[in-house]
Amino acid sequence: MSPINHFSKSLSESKTSCSNVYGSRFASEHMPCNSFPQEEMPKDVAYRMIKDDLVLDGNPMLNLASFVTTYMEDEAEKLIAESSNKNVIDHEEYPKSVEIEQRCLNILADLFHTPQINGKATAVGTACIGSSEAIMLATLAMKKRWQNERKAQGKDASRPNIIMSTGVQVCWEKAARYFDIEEKMVPCTETRFVIDPAQAVDLVDENTIGIAAILGTTYTGQYEDVKAINDLLIEKGLDTPIHVDAASGGFVAPFVNPKLMWDFQLQNVVSINVSGHKYGLVYPGIGWALWRSVDYLPKELIFNINYLGADQLNFTLNFSKPASHIIAQYYQMIRLGRRGYTDIMSNLTHTADYLTDQLKDQGFVVMSDGGGHGLPVVAFRLSPAQHFFFDEFALSHKLRERGWIVPAYTMAADCEKMSMMRVVVREEFSQSRCDSLVHDIQFALQALAAQEIQNIQRYQALIGSQLALPKALCVEQSCRPMLPAPEKMPGITVNARECVDA
Ligand SMILES: *Cc1c(COP(=O)(O)O)cnc(C)c1O
Repeated sequence: MSPINHFSKSLSESKTSCSNVYGSRFASEHMPCNSFPQEEMPKDVAYRMIKDDLVLDGNPMLNLASFVTTYMEDEAEKLIAESSNKNVIDHEEYPKSVEIEQRCLNILADLFHTPQINGKATAVGTACIGSSEAIMLATLAMKKRWQNERKAQGKDASRPNIIMSTGVQVCWEKAARYFDIEEKMVPCTETRFVIDPAQAVDLVDENTIGIAAILGTTYTGQYEDVKAINDLLIEKGLDTPIHVDAASGGFVAPFVNPKLMWDFQLQNVVSINVSGHKYGLVYPGIGWALWRSVDYLPKELIFNINYLGADQLNFTLNFSKPASHIIAQYYQMIRLGRRGYTDIMSNLTHTADYLTDQLKDQGFVVMSDGGGHGLPVVAFRLSPAQHFFFDEFALSHKLRERGWIVPAYTMAADCEKMSMMRVVVREEFSQSRCDSLVHDIQFALQALAAQEIQNIQRYQALIGSQLALPKALCVEQSCRPMLPAPEKMPGITVNARECVDA
């Protein structure tokens, strides 16, 4: 063995046993990406390496793109940590967790005005991983119920359809595709970003399994008019089911706008979903599905899990899942109560209105409804009157420099030419954080405008001169980075071919 080899061997041995993370060999090696590492690593090193790797994620508190909860109290976090090793499907092992799920469902059924028979609530439901799972279940239930009715009448049951606006969240298109249901879309327009109730009801035919209505669209946070859909159906003598996608609004409207009619108070509303991990104020991993009564849950979709001699209704796509988020939801419900939720949701609504005013002052067009008529969400776009050449995507990018994640995106199908930005006002987005954002937006606009003026001056100088082009503008390394003579130049567009030709 050569001395060098000997040296490197003893070095690597000493590094394996090294007690400081960054002096260990692990800090000088790539992290395992494709296969199991041969040997173990010390737990503190593994922890540190992964924690360090994750710093390149965005900061959840500055992520204004997401509806999903990013703040919970320490006590809630403790409960989550303490119960994440309980699999809530084990009814026999964890009866208390199962009971807490039922308590949450009872509280939600009451909040959503479940019908009562002999003083007993009729609604049934289940905890899910999120609204997507809840929507899958509700869609399956509507399809099955429609099929059963059609078959009982001796009619064809092979071509089910569902009516929704183009403003739906992607999980609706998923549900339709996964379960072979035709989507009948009510288009949004450049001035209406929600469903048109009359158009929706006009689309109903004998193959319609239901209409989806959104309480708070992801685009603008606006509420679709569930009552208008319900009333039009009744007027026409149709018993078409309505499912309300209250992923966000289910925990907002009852507190900020309690008179709004959207839930089981409306006769045709048969099922509702809500995300516990959005305005339910729980970390991601919890949603709820509720049906008006067991009549709307076809029996063949229910599995009975026998628990100590008592039948437990089970109707989910997933089997195992932690009890932690159900318990965290219950914590929020009893910790905050109606007053706590009302205080938080009112503050958020107020902050959203304040942000709206500030953005309008800066010249933006705001597309969301304020004043608690929709979610505390502010969707906005640059106004043509501002005469900027840059777009919302550039502004979004600029804000990222300060850590803010404010997404730019295009509107739903049929008005996808319209680009916009959105701020979701969440619990910890306080007035003072809002002030910082407003300041940074103003700064970003000024910086982008200044950059634009500088670019225009450069382009003006460039045209008519024989300046060298930056290499980066040429795709081919070998191309001569020289502009063709001005008279041969088609405008100032430069693409790879022109570079090669030059
Ligand atoms: C977020 C959202 C969903 C999907 O919910 P998850 O809880 O993320 O699965 C569905 N519909 C609407 C309107 C939403 O906002």
